[in-house]
Amino acid sequence: MQLTFSYWEQQTFFSTYDVIIIGSGIVGLNAALHLKIEKPSLKIAIVERGILPSGASTKNAGFACFGSVSELMNDIKTNGEETVYRLVEKRVLGLKTLRNHLGDQAISYEQYGGYELFLEDDQAIQEASFSAIHYLNKLLKPIFGAPAIFTDSSDKITDFGFQKTRGLIFNRFEGQIDTGKMMQALMLKVRSLGVEIFNQCEVQAFEREDLVSIRTSIGVFKSKKVIFATNAFTSQLLPEAEILPGRGQVLVTEPIPDLKFKGTFHYDEGYYYFRNIDGRILLGGGRNLNFKAEESFDLEITQPVQERLELLLSEVIYPHKNIRIDYRWSGIMGFGEDLAPLIIKIDDSIYLAAKCNGMGVALGSLTGKEVAELVLNDI
Ligand SMILES: Cc1cc2nc3c(=O)[nH]c(=O)nc-3n(C[C@H](O)[C@H](O)[C@H](O)COP(=O)(O)OP(=O)(O)OC[C@H]3O[C@@H](n4cnc5c(N)ncnc54)[C@H](O)[C@@H]3O)c2cc1C
Repeated sequence: MQLTFSYWEQQTFFSTYDVIIIGSGIVGLNAALHLKIEKPSLKIAIVERGILPSGASTKNAGFACFGSVSELMNDIKTNGEETVYRLVEKRVLGLKTLRNHLGDQAISYEQYGGYELFLEDDQAIQEASFSAIHYLNKLLKPIFGAPAIFTDSSDKITDFGFQKTRGLIFNRFEGQIDTGKMMQALMLKVRSLGVEIFNQCEVQAFEREDLVSIRTSIGVFKSKKVIFATNAFTSQLLPEAEILPGRGQVLVTEPIPDLKFKGTFHYDEGYYYFRNIDGRILLGGGRNLNFKAEESFDLEITQPVQERLELLLSEVIYPHKNIRIDYRWSGIMGFGEDLAPLIIKIDDSIYLAAKCNGMGVALGSLTGKEVAELVLNDI
């Protein structure tokens, strides 16, 4: 059915925009927020194909983190110390920006700290990680302005009730948020500044003329500038973008009255993660079981990954108990070789901000802000 629009609708909602942002994830919303803060007169719309944001931003685990010891050491090996230092600095600044914009209460920010787990079979990686604690604490001290960021906390294994676990490293600066509340607060904030968000509005094609003409599932929009904040899905519209999708699967248990831990937990270089939420356990990961299968745009859950998550739950995290799983879902992240987000001007009217490499809670605010600054330079 062809939609028709009234004179009023066309004059008000479909007249030319200064900036249209494609994608209402954390990056797109932050780009809009920064543009409006800096230049309130700009006419801005966000077009989003889902009823809600439908990539990663409402699907994630809500870790306000900047990397576990084994993850950071691995990144240093592949990308070098300087690059990783700058990235951690950005993640920490990004988290501060997010908390400043929305307030800790609105996003339910809690700083219970984060832990990295080492299981019985992980002797080599455990030894390497524990011996890297001193080095990382020294390297990252200027960012936190404090010593002892990471400490040995293996004495808590019994208190937490974990099995098959031989070591724990604590990170006192790590926090957690309520992802749903964070995204709702961001949406409310950008709407309150006058940004239109069009949902169920999928961009199908675009053409550069005097203005950029954006053909969507509900009609054609015109804009002077366009920001692609389409993350994993970018290559569907900009085939030259080297961003690969990576599906992340998650489950949440029933409420557990005697849950013994609070905090965010990382295992296997961050490929698995779990935390407390409302007296339940949220557990996710397993992409590394089959990278090729999880390089997908489909928001599906798969049996092998879900079974692996349940095994980790029953053998390590909450052993010897039958536990019901109340929620299961997946989200799609955007990955690339380079660890840093991709924030570029493609030509005089097209900009791209994507690929937070699975750490968009930390990097999303700054990524949105940086692409907004590129646009503001040109307006
Ligand atoms: C399971 C999971 C757990 C995670 N856990 C954490 C965590 O604990 N901590 C952390 O820091 N990060 C985590 N992340 C990563 C984080 O969620 C992402 O890095 C971040 O949300 C990326 O934000 P974005 O705005 O770039 O992308 P997205 O949120 O994916 O937004 C892109 C948007 O573009 C829209 N779109 C795409 N194509 C079109 C089109 N053609 N037309 C219109 N709209 C379109 C999509 O629907 C989507 O809403 C996790 C991700 C997942 C999937």
